[in-house]
Amino acid sequence: MKEIRCPNCNQLLIKVDICIGEIKCTRCKKIIKIEIKSDRVSNTTRKSE
Ligand SMILES: [Zn+2]
Repeated sequence: MKEIRCPNCNQLLIKVDICIGEIKCTRCKKIIKIEIKSDRVSNTTRKSE
């Protein structure tokens, strides 16, 4: 679980494992882009032959 904080005012925005999208900071009203992907690929492994 990672904490996403606003880079502008350090307000805690959300706690997520995986998140891709945007969230609006409630304090300074800035749009924060979030892109957190899991390091582990669990279901997209494909064998190429
Ligand atoms: Zn902010």
